[in-house]
Amino acid sequence: PRGAKCTRCREQATIALPSHHANFCEDCFRFFFRRSVQRAMKKFPVDPRETILVAVSGGKDSLAAWAVLQDLGWKTKGIHVDLGIEGFSEASAAAIDAFAARRGLSWVRYSLKEVFGYTIPEIQKRTRRKICSVCGTVKRQVLNRLTFQEECRVVATGHNLDDEAGRLLGNLVRNRREYIEKQYPYLPSSHPRLPVKIKPLYRVSADEIRTFCRVEGIEYLADSCPLSRGATSHTFQEVLQFLEKKMPGTKRDFLFSYLESKEPPKPVDDFGTCDQCGQPCYGTRCSVCNLLNQLREKDAARRPPSDGEGPR
Ligand code: SF4
Ligand code: ZN
Repeated sequence: PRGAKCTRCREQATIALPSHHANFCEDCFRFFFRRSVQRAMKKFPVDPRETILVAVSGGKDSLAAWAVLQDLGWKTKGIHVDLGIEGFSEASAAAIDAFAARRGLSWVRYSLKEVFGYTIPEIQKRTRRKICSVCGTVKRQVLNRLTFQEECRVVATGHNLDDEAGRLLGNLVRNRREYIEKQYPYLPSSHPRLPVKIKPLYRVSADEIRTFCRVEGIEYLADSCPLSRGATSHTFQEVLQFLEKKMPGTKRDFLFSYLESKEPPKPVDDFGTCDQCGQPCYGTRCSVCNLLNQLREKDAARRPPSDGEGPR
């Protein structure tokens, strides 16, 4: 904004934030951004002595979340699950490694192949279901499991204002009441094997995160996963972005007014325990074990018989 003054310090402003009716210089923008995350963290029931496991992909959101949690004084550890997607997975790990080294942060890397038996492309070859929905389910459960392996109880993800508002709109349009009911920036643990989940960036938009990464010099992986194709969640986000352009502040109003009308979620006791892997699930067998069994059956059927009747 040419000639505009910073709303906070009255110096020359370089960053315009129409949705907040504000202009900032870089320092005051950093302050604003960190304070937004701090406000989010105040709403979460997390003990400051706790080490927060930050699920990182190498993209802007997870790295920004990790950076701010560190800046705010939280104990953190990064965790990354390598999905085995050629090119993309290597680039993700490289971005995380460079970021963590610069900030002196520690992180652990697990490979999905090792912890689950299949990479995402290998799963994709063996199922007709939409890969992103399968990937989401598998990642979620693997992350739950690894959190306990890492002796942590709280997981932070990089979901931002656009993700949350887009999801809310999608759920409202489809009238998915159970999902609407559950939507909140944190989820308490409802099973001894489930971590608390928090979304420290739910109050900041994707644009604000990009700006934060730029002023902080955070080099993130800008490429999206090559397997993502026209997810409908993006369409809902675009609709909100359109409204935001016409009426700055709409996206926040939409999400925050909904959240304010709600009681924070309480632990529920509708989980059973999977008889195969011991993870929480509805019923007696979790969807990840069901998937794993299907994949193994498929592979067993393909394999030539091993009792000597096969070709020599
Ligand atoms: Fe998984 Fe889809 Fe995300 Fe790729 S885009 S990481 S396949 S959920
Ligand atoms: Zn299971």
